[in-house]
Amino acid sequence: MPEGPSLRKFHQLVAPFVGQLVVKVGGNSKKMDPNMLEMLRLQDSQVHGKNLYLNFGLGKDLEPPNSLQLPKHLQKEVNLPKKTNNHKFESTSRLGGQEVPSSSSDIKASELGEKEKDSVNEPWWLNTPINSEPWLCFHFGLFGSVRANELSRATKANKRGDWKDPSPRLVLHFEKGFLAFYNCQMYWCLGPVVKPTSDILSEQFDRRQALEALKQANPVCYTLLDQRYFSGLGNIIKNEVLYLARIHPLSLGSCLTSLNLESLLDHVVSFSVGWLQKKLEGKPQHYLIYQKEQCPAGHQIMKDSFGPPNGFQRLTWWCPNCQLKVVSEEPNEVQITQE
Ligand SMILES: [Zn+2]
Repeated sequence: MPEGPSLRKFHQLVAPFVGQLVVKVGGNSKKMDPNMLEMLRLQDSQVHGKNLYLNFGLGKDLEPPNSLQLPKHLQKEVNLPKKTNNHKFESTSRLGGQEVPSSSSDIKASELGEKEKDSVNEPWWLNTPINSEPWLCFHFGLFGSVRANELSRATKANKRGDWKDPSPRLVLHFEKGFLAFYNCQMYWCLGPVVKPTSDILSEQFDRRQALEALKQANPVCYTLLDQRYFSGLGNIIKNEVLYLARIHPLSLGSCLTSLNLESLLDHVVSFSVGWLQKKLEGKPQHYLIYQKEQCPAGHQIMKDSFGPPNGFQRLTWWCPNCQLKVVSEEPNEVQITQE
């Protein structure tokens, strides 16, 4: 799935659309009624770790939607309270349904019901409480992406030999241009889970906290993927930085020196920032070890799936020559302990 640097790139693509009104919605999402986004404004966008957050609202500080001169076929009766009320509040009540994890939603359907009654004779956007302006969280799958003003094209034939273009999950048409979202899960929430101290691309990334996490008696390749400490770090970054720091993926953090761990952290940050820079410049990132047969020094690379017991096992590449196992008590044997 896309890692932190890709998410930053997606964010950069979305940013020019902030402030614009969604005039039409498309896409093949079955979980979300796209109509609920029509005539809302994209008010803000944020990226945290591997999630992209878009805030939709009525843009009270901006012009109200009915003052806009939309193309004829897109013009709507936004000032019809009954109809639009239903539309709005039906939609909002869906926020409390399957689309929102119950723990993250404090939008109360009963409250909204009251508002609905009170605002029957007023434009629907007048009485909508500010805190009901929801955030749509995007979590991207393996080939997830965001495109601005272009659609993704097939780069190769599928198993049946068809050249079928990928279908976007969601397309947001704005007054000027459109955004297409591919292979992503979307759910509504009340706001981003902001923890910049664990975001590897944030200026506030807390190295000390990350170092403490790495020092645990766990294989470092597990800890690196722990989003509580390394938000935005995914499998590619994991493999590359372990190679760059010459650390075997199954080395226990507790057996490594502070110098080793500091060096690993340096590589986490510099590799991620470098990758982001390349993305912004439209250049490809070349990998040293991820999905390779040989390391840059010409050694045969090993590949195996590693992950915590009962946890997600991730394919891991390493060079047995460049990344020696840390020998602790028993030579040639790294004891793997959990917790
Ligand atoms: Zn090597």
